Amino acid sequence: MRRLVVLGAGTAGTMVVNKLRRRLGHDWQVTVVEQSDLHHYQPGFLFLPFGSYAPADVVKPTRQSIPSGVELVTGEIDKVIADDNVVRLTDGRTVSYDYLVVATGVQPRPDQTPGMLDAGQWRESIHEFYTFDGALALREKLRGFTGGRVVVHVVEMPIKCPVAPLEFAFLADAFFRGRRMRDRVELVYVTPLPGAFTKPIASARLSGMLEKRKIALEPDFVVERIDADRKSLVSYDEREVPFDLLVTVPLNMGADYVARSGLGDELNYVPVDKHTLLSTRHDNIFAVGDASDIPASKAGSVAHFSVEVFVENFLAHIEGRPLPGSFDGHANCYVEAGAGKALLIDFNYDTEPLPGTYPVPHFGPFRLLEETRVNHWGKLAFRWMYWHLLLPGRPIPLPAHMSMAGKKTSSAEPEKLEV
Ligand SMILES: Cc1cc2nc3c(=O)[nH]c(=O)nc-3n(C[C@H](O)[C@H](O)[C@H](O)COP(=O)(O)OP(=O)(O)OC[C@H]3O[C@@H](n4cnc5c(N)ncnc54)[C@H](O)[C@@H]3O)c2cc1C
Repeated sequence: MRRLVVLGAGTAGTMVVNKLRRRLGHDWQVTVVEQSDLHHYQPGFLFLPFGSYAPADVVKPTRQSIPSGVELVTGEIDKVIADDNVVRLTDGRTVSYDYLVVATGVQPRPDQTPGMLDAGQWRESIHEFYTFDGALALREKLRGFTGGRVVVHVVEMPIKCPVAPLEFAFLADAFFRGRRMRDRVELVYVTPLPGAFTKPIASARLSGMLEKRKIALEPDFVVERIDADRKSLVSYDEREVPFDLLVTVPLNMGADYVARSGLGDELNYVPVDKHTLLSTRHDNIFAVGDASDIPASKAGSVAHFSVEVFVENFLAHIEGRPLPGSFDGHANCYVEAGAGKALLIDFNYDTEPLPGTYPVPHFGPFRLLEETRVNHWGKLAFRWMYWHLLLPGRPIPLPAHMSMAGKKTSSAEPEKLEV
């Protein structure tokens, strides 16, 4: 028996075991190690605070998405002993492997920013929506909120779904308007980036959307600490941003066991070849999804497209063939704009988000970098696709590699884009 062990049954790990179980023969034992009995649809965390999704919409038992023929080991990973090809769990159990796939994602780490957890303000005036519990606590906070200064804040990039905090700001604007209290709420968006987003054309478009909604932008803000007593963000260059309610995205780090195992960089991301996803240090270890250090967005769409490439590479690798697949960093993300509209962005390592149509040239039905209702329906439909197509590893008729078909390159100057 040859042994494949996948660490983490989140988005990427679950897709991997579903796809590979079908492709590997019965001489392969496939095991997945996961600490949680519950699988969360994380894109749905965005909607929980505003009450547009209920908790039951975003959670299902982990086991439900694991195919028969794959052993699910429930437990917390303590260490990978790569020299011995062994994974040790915190309860002392061990799992041996011939090939290992790291898919333990990244987690928000409020403990990494001085003051974030101080003065009893965590989940009082300082909130986050990157965890299930955090999103629900914020829902309660927003229900009772009567007005004040709401600061949406990103500690440091990269974060998973880099557009999610912007979406939160747009949805907050719509939420307070709907409650007829927008005039009593000052909205501020604080980011370490020079603009609203990482890529210039999308950044220009998204900055314009903030402006149109009267959401103030505070760029280049690298937070040094939070003064929880005074309810203020303090940057390294000594700027201060006071808040009544802070909605922060804490530093996103890979799992601590990655560091303990000597497998990670300073943020516990696993260094891999960005095209093949094979570890740069170990010839029998791959990393997929958010856990790797590839310079792509940390997003479910990237996990999906990269797993398609990974599967072919893995099958070639175990047969000693050269790796055929080259991942291009393809990402696409719907950006909720509020009031039933959304944008769509589609990009990769080399091409920034451009206007146009997706996936079919001229037709769409989705329009890139434009606020449309169809894009919003696409975002909502994605939840169904996630549970029923993506996680079970069923084929989706979208190419893994980004296509230039339908993209407009000539009208892509930021100043020509209308908001
Ligand atoms: C608010 C929010 C909105 C988002 N919106 C979008 C969106 O619109 N579009 C999009 O494409 N993506 C979105 N994402 C990002 C997307 O959810 C992630 O990129 C995706 O889930 C990454 O998959 P993964 O398998 O790498 O990690 P995860 O899905 O996070 O899975 C990691 C798994 O590893 C397990 N694990 C971790 N450490 C251990 C350990 N020590 N022992 C055992 N198990 C462990 C965890 O329990 C978890 O199940 C969003 C994320 C958030 C938080």
